[in-house]
Amino acid sequence: MGDIHQRGWCDGTSGNFSCVLRRDPLLLLMAPSGARKGSLRAEELIVVNGEGEVVRGQGRASAETALHLAIVAVAGAGAVLHTHSLAATLLSSHGPGPGPFQDLEMLKGLEGIGTHQTTIRVPVLPNDQDMEALSRRAAPVIRDAPHGLLLAGHGLYAWGRDLNGAQRHLEILEFLLELQWRRLLLPAPGPRPDPPQARGER
Ligand SMILES: [Zn+2]
Repeated sequence: MGDIHQRGWCDGTSGNFSCVLRRDPLLLLMAPSGARKGSLRAEELIVVNGEGEVVRGQGRASAETALHLAIVAVAGAGAVLHTHSLAATLLSSHGPGPGPFQDLEMLKGLEGIGTHQTTIRVPVLPNDQDMEALSRRAAPVIRDAPHGLLLAGHGLYAWGRDLNGAQRHLEILEFLLELQWRRLLLPAPGPRPDPPQARGER
């Protein structure tokens, strides 16, 4: 997960990552609350059960564990990656929210999408310090989300059937957010110049 930190997607002690170790009964491997993800050692990871209680390792489970558990339950995810990138923080609280994203080859990196001729929107939920309440509101959104959702002014949750899938979806969604941010900075496009033939040139 060091590269997620290196890309500036979980600065400070922000973000968290979880991976399903066992489904029944559920066990999640994740980082303890307050850990800096860029310098985390494997032996510092904790194991959390389906009620969000730490059953192995030192430290507390993050308050955001509730949303990780909801995503695992509703989407059947095998891994959940939560980032606080600049693009996710900015676009989740700017104007109408991110998207629609369409006619982009990168969309094909999202599981279930086989053509660039697709349109997706990344849903945005209001942020809430009560993560239990937020998780209950998130459940119907998770079902239809494109392997990710945003919390306004907070960050991105991306998931996949396993850690590789979650990482791929995280990279694609962060790419789309960054793309939209840069588009907002570009001046409005002027008319395209005519091709030479149309102007009678050879
Ligand atoms: Zn967070």
